[in-house]
Amino acid sequence: MEDCLFCKIVAGDIPSKKVYEDELCYAFYDIDPQAPTHFLVIPKQHIQSVVAIDSSNSAIVAHCFEVIAKIAVDMKMDSFRVVSNIGEQAGQSVFHLHFHVLSGRDMTWPPG
Ligand code: AMP
Ligand code: ZN
Repeated sequence: MEDCLFCKIVAGDIPSKKVYEDELCYAFYDIDPQAPTHFLVIPKQHIQSVVAIDSSNSAIVAHCFEVIAKIAVDMKMDSFRVVSNIGEQAGQSVFHLHFHVLSGRDMTWPPG
């Protein structure tokens, strides 16, 4: 999608630090990490947010979670948090579906 930061990252037009890639998903380190390990897992296909998940794209989203599980094993992360912000009040700043994966520090609950 034109004018989408994460579509440009998927296309390689904006540089990123890759964690993992396959035909459906891309994972890369967050530019402003909120934990010692903080990366984002995104579908290559443009999906605006969790609200835009439906039967036409849910298999891709499921695959993103398989990728999160695989990376967690590969990185030996035994405790981590997966977050997706939906809408501006929740803190979404990029409107291309992404799952934050945060690890390596104590996490507060409820989140701020
Ligand atoms: P959210 O605010 O939940 O929409 O998350 C968007 C995330 O994208 C933020 O944590 C940003 O730090 C991150 N971000 C923005 N631009 C880049 C970039 N060029 N490379 C990597 N991460 C980015
Ligand atoms: Zn996009």
